[in-house]
Amino acid sequence: MCGIVGYIGHREAYPIIIEGLKRLEYRGYDSAGIALFDGNDLKISKTKGKVSDLEQRSEQEITKNGSLGIGHTRWATHGVPNDVNSHPHASNSGDLAIIHNGIIENYDALKKELISRGYTFQSDTDTEVLINLIEDVKKKENVKLGKAIQIALNQVIGAYAIAVFDKTKPGEVVIARLGSPLAVGIGKDEFFIASDASPFIEYTKNAIYLEDEEMAIIRLGKDIKIRKIKDDSLVDPYVQELQMNLEQIEKGGYDHFMLKEIHEQPRAIRDTYRGRLLRDKAIIKMAGVEDNMKKFLNADRIIIVACGTSWHAGLVAEYIFEEFSRIPVEVEYASEFRYRNPVITEKDVVIAISQSGETADTLAAIKLAKSKGAFVFGVCNVVGSSIARETDAGAYTHAGPEIGVASTKAFTTQITVLTLMALRLARAKGTMSSSDFRLHIQELELIPQKVEQLLKVDEHVKDIAKQYLLSTNCLYLGRGYNFPVALEGALKLKEISYIHAEGYPAAEMKHGPIALIDDRMPVIVIATSKGHYEKVVSNIQEIKSRKGKIIAIVTKGDTAVKEIADHVIEIPESEEAFSPLLTTIPLQLLSYHIAVMRNCNVDQPRNLAKSVTVE
Ligand code: GLU
Repeated sequence: MCGIVGYIGHREAYPIIIEGLKRLEYRGYDSAGIALFDGNDLKISKTKGKVSDLEQRSEQEITKNGSLGIGHTRWATHGVPNDVNSHPHASNSGDLAIIHNGIIENYDALKKELISRGYTFQSDTDTEVLINLIEDVKKKENVKLGKAIQIALNQVIGAYAIAVFDKTKPGEVVIARLGSPLAVGIGKDEFFIASDASPFIEYTKNAIYLEDEEMAIIRLGKDIKIRKIKDDSLVDPYVQELQMNLEQIEKGGYDHFMLKEIHEQPRAIRDTYRGRLLRDKAIIKMAGVEDNMKKFLNADRIIIVACGTSWHAGLVAEYIFEEFSRIPVEVEYASEFRYRNPVITEKDVVIAISQSGETADTLAAIKLAKSKGAFVFGVCNVVGSSIARETDAGAYTHAGPEIGVASTKAFTTQITVLTLMALRLARAKGTMSSSDFRLHIQELELIPQKVEQLLKVDEHVKDIAKQYLLSTNCLYLGRGYNFPVALEGALKLKEISYIHAEGYPAAEMKHGPIALIDDRMPVIVIATSKGHYEKVVSNIQEIKSRKGKIIAIVTKGDTAVKEIADHVIEIPESEEAFSPLLTTIPLQLLSYHIAVMRNCNVDQPRNLAKSVTVE
């Protein structure tokens, strides 16, 4: 989870690394550190806290010169977030420096062995064990840094993206990956290393994404050499041209990335269906689906595997696939699926959903499904990510970089992709008439426009937020397509405002959560006009009778709920199946405003990280 950045070339490394770490801070932010070679010696400055704390600290600790360096922003797995446990870590001799994203699972056994051979450790991290193992191999075997890293990594169990340099050979950085992402930006006589391309986007558009089990030796004045860690075979570097630009990863005048990303949803949804939804021809075209149509049509069922918000998008898709394409769907937490010996056959289609495309549990679930012969389709946002590469086929959401840790546009664009798939399959299977299909694609095409309109409720939602910012609990209710939206609404509030919140199917309330309702309990109810409306209105009455405070999301023109709810937020009328793309917007805004008013760090909520690359 953590962000790593490195530079070797002719510029000052310090500002590139600091700015890069800020862009990667969404990946982890409990500590930060930098190691520079200043022309004579290795200098390390590191601290608990944010990259801004590192900037202050490094001011006093190091001279910021040098054109070789590595930096890290941490999401602790082994050892509390403190100065000593922060990366980079140096080896016992003080020659080698490492940054690491991931977990060395067998670190304890390795550490004991190294201690018995005289090594000492300052930190509690698994990473410090790895750098000393590398040093030990290097000395024992009398090999160069690259070879030592290769031998050491073959003794390691776990996941990693690492960058290492040796102050006695300052023209070289060695990197390696297994399970955590790593990109190399190729400039003119310079190289950039980072967890994703955002730290070097203004310097070069040429990048190599390292594959799992690969390592690269990056030497100034030489071509990059990529090898397989296991068998040492050489790999041909594949240089990709990046599509991203700097503007996409800046806040663009908004106070927070989350707010910017909420407001980007009309564009993001449009970009996601552009070129796929062809209204004039009344068709949906998705290469990944077309090329594998037989697999989809012969599927006994679809299994969706995902985590967090992506899992909620999967739940929405369950309703949509079953309704439109009449294919049975199961939605699984990837972390449970991978460890419970699930029954999977060659007639299953597995859809894996992940914004980052790096989610460790989802990746493992994919590997398991593939090993049982299932066809695996990926829905990711990050182009070239591990999941995109690991799956048999897939479709990207075109949300653009999502930096706020609480997912917003990733959710709505995932639903968009999955809806397109369900509609496409409905036509192929003949489970939807051509006139219905036409109507549906027209409706879907209008969603971005409706989201645009809906975003105008921002001030109104802010007023509501003011009244509930001191709540300690909150209940979210929805039915049908909007049950997963209730779950997602509750997750958003929990994540960024630290208010306990639960999402429930509205009808389930009476089986437990109703006991919690009193005059201090805000209950957010999604009551769209076409979604079992009367039933939800009865649920609202039940809350009212127990003095709960009702915030209702209703369809424009509603009258019945208005009479009983304390607050209503209107959404534009739409096909019920597409309503999650609308109802979710005010819930995102509500969490956002409550969190801001509670002085929470919206873009970097405590204990969380954007892409969960550890189990
Ligand atoms: N396992 C390492 C640590 O706890 C790296 C964690 C990370 O990926 O940030 O320091």
